[in-house]
Amino acid sequence: MNGYLDFFEPDFIVEAEPGLAGGLGFDTARVLQYSDILTREGDWNRNGHGLNVLDLYSNLYRNEFQFARRHEHDIVDAAPEEQAYTGFSACLFGAFPKEPDLAYFNRAFADAFDPKKVSLNGGRLAMLYGSGFTSALHLGHSEIEVQYHDHHDPALFVLDAHQPRDLIDFWNLRAVRRHVIPVPVQWLGDLSGFCKEFITRNFRPLPGNPHGVMIRVNVMFARSIPTADIEQLHRENFHVDVDANVRQDWYPSIWRPSPRFTVRAMRPTLSGAQKTFDSPIATEKLEIRFECLHPGFAEEFGNNNRWANVIKLRDWTLRDQVATAFPCDYKKPMAPYFRLGSARPLATTEGLIIFPQFKNVPEHWEMPDGTAAINAWLQASGIKAALSDAGRATQQIIQTLGGFAGVASFAHPEIVKLLNEISRRPISRSAHHHEFRNRIQDATRDDAWKRSSFETLVERNAVELGLELKCTKCSSWTWSPLSQLGYEMKCGMCFRPFPFPISDPSASSKSRWAYRVIGPFALPDYARGGYSASLSIRFFSKILSGHDRAAVTWSAGQELDLALNNKIEADFILWYQRKQSFGNDYPTELVFGEAKSFRMTLPKSKVAETLVAELGINKSEAQRVAEVLRKDVFRVKDAFVPEDIERMKALAIRFPGSVLVFSTMKQADELSKDEIDLISDLAIWGREYVDERRQTRAPVIILTGTELFASFSLHETWKRKGGRHAQLGEAIRGHADNVRVLADMTQQLYLGMPPYVTWLEARRRGVPPT
Ligand SMILES: [Zn+2]
Repeated sequence: MNGYLDFFEPDFIVEAEPGLAGGLGFDTARVLQYSDILTREGDWNRNGHGLNVLDLYSNLYRNEFQFARRHEHDIVDAAPEEQAYTGFSACLFGAFPKEPDLAYFNRAFADAFDPKKVSLNGGRLAMLYGSGFTSALHLGHSEIEVQYHDHHDPALFVLDAHQPRDLIDFWNLRAVRRHVIPVPVQWLGDLSGFCKEFITRNFRPLPGNPHGVMIRVNVMFARSIPTADIEQLHRENFHVDVDANVRQDWYPSIWRPSPRFTVRAMRPTLSGAQKTFDSPIATEKLEIRFECLHPGFAEEFGNNNRWANVIKLRDWTLRDQVATAFPCDYKKPMAPYFRLGSARPLATTEGLIIFPQFKNVPEHWEMPDGTAAINAWLQASGIKAALSDAGRATQQIIQTLGGFAGVASFAHPEIVKLLNEISRRPISRSAHHHEFRNRIQDATRDDAWKRSSFETLVERNAVELGLELKCTKCSSWTWSPLSQLGYEMKCGMCFRPFPFPISDPSASSKSRWAYRVIGPFALPDYARGGYSASLSIRFFSKILSGHDRAAVTWSAGQELDLALNNKIEADFILWYQRKQSFGNDYPTELVFGEAKSFRMTLPKSKVAETLVAELGINKSEAQRVAEVLRKDVFRVKDAFVPEDIERMKALAIRFPGSVLVFSTMKQADELSKDEIDLISDLAIWGREYVDERRQTRAPVIILTGTELFASFSLHETWKRKGGRHAQLGEAIRGHADNVRVLADMTQQLYLGMPPYVTWLEARRRGVPPT
């Protein structure tokens, strides 16, 4: 049931019997009864739901059917000859309610179209199949364009016309596949001729296929046909002499997600109209306005929820701020309110769904940025959350640099180290103009994608330009921003005024141009982890999904109030949604990330030096402290520790199915055995398959410097790295943007774990996984 729901993502559920939708977790406000959608005659003022088919009928009549027609139409009004076929007939042709105060539907249909009455039996069905026909069901979607995402050959679906299960299966199959013809097993004698002819007639080359692929009609057998009978039924009624025989004895499992190596099964897209709008964003507020669409045939006023509008957002601001991906929680939406004065949109794989009440009423949305959107969603899920200090640093870095194209400017270990080093310099936190430029250019010399790193960092204000001047009184150097230069300067050490060297302004002994790191870039410890976190978010937004293959809504670090006295911080939180060029996008994944910078290990000889730089104590003091320490190598900080693992596990328990990311700017060989063991334990826990969700419990992804500092796509990066990276990269080509696949690959690469399928197989056989 959950599988069917996820596949169709219904906006509403109509219960055939009250209570059937109970326990599905579906918003009760969108569970309707027949009585909610079928307006009784004369009861026009009731607050019902849906668009009355009479609006469509009168429109079709006005425009087409009231005039004398040159060709006779083929509209039929079918009713079964025998009572036992009522369900089958309704399923195939449609049927109208028989209750006296609902009988007006059938009358309107008869009045408008003057359909041919057919008393249905096997022989007449064979005739209709042969000649073609238009049923009430067909007419009902006259103004709707159906776009199938289905590439199957036509099918004959052999079913037991008396079995509701088979009829429901046919109903669902026809909803998904372009061409399915039901064949009641009871009427095979009458229909066999048509079937064989249909199979032979369709046996022709697939248009446009250069490899000589032929179209072969698939004869499918419904679940109520005994397996033992199939062989004979097929031989006697369907087998043809040409090489066109295809038989399928099972019903396709529409309710299961498609495996990643097959073409993804998708429901068709139904559309009455579509339109593209550009909404320029002029102010800091991200506001968009657009006109809603409505079916031309609909009356001015009527029920609630008469039609839906699907909105797909694309962010062209290049600033990577607007939330464009939302969790696909169609059952009970938690997405934030951003429609002004209106209900929440439903987020689905098709887009954001709204139900405009009237024609021509404009929509006005105030779009949240990622942090606000994720925050509001967490609040709606009952979790208080607030941006952490580290999160604020990350957000400022991304904003200052104007999005992830700007973040790319420091996607190099030497540049990150340089920025961090400057932030630790005593007094001015500055670097001379030439030194700064040359070190960045040296680092990026061989990388065409990063040639503009220096310019970006300078022009987007990661650093500020100023002049270092030598105090004439005490001979120490003082950095002053451009705006504060004047004839009289003030020393930062002795605080006395001294004159600007106007007679020899460019003498390097008196003045030097220097950049100072500012804002978040001036924060210690790799901008309080902000470099690593923003590079991690950039990885998902630009490297993994290259070429706009995914939408990412991101939030920098937030502190989540999971329970009383249980605050948990995530360094980044993402909604990651893969796009599909034709058809619906993939369901959005919730991603939590823990980001580390470099692990700093120090040989004993460097300890004193570091103490001087970090603590500002004098050299002899530092040497004395270093002597007292006994170890030869010190692991100072920034390794993954048990608390990190526990934190991420707690998040996965609270948000089942979420993706956990451990990212570090270190290279893989700098991960310690302890770190690998810790993360491996969690990764194995996360590989557990949860039946109810039809996915693994918590895929764990490990990202290293290789991924965070990538210039271009992941595939390209791994290919250049060679070896096992290149091998695995090639194996997942085209699927690498699937975060669940990425988890499997990085677990193999960085934790030395066996591939997921191998592990699963070993466990099934009772062999302990290695
Ligand atoms: Zn001075």
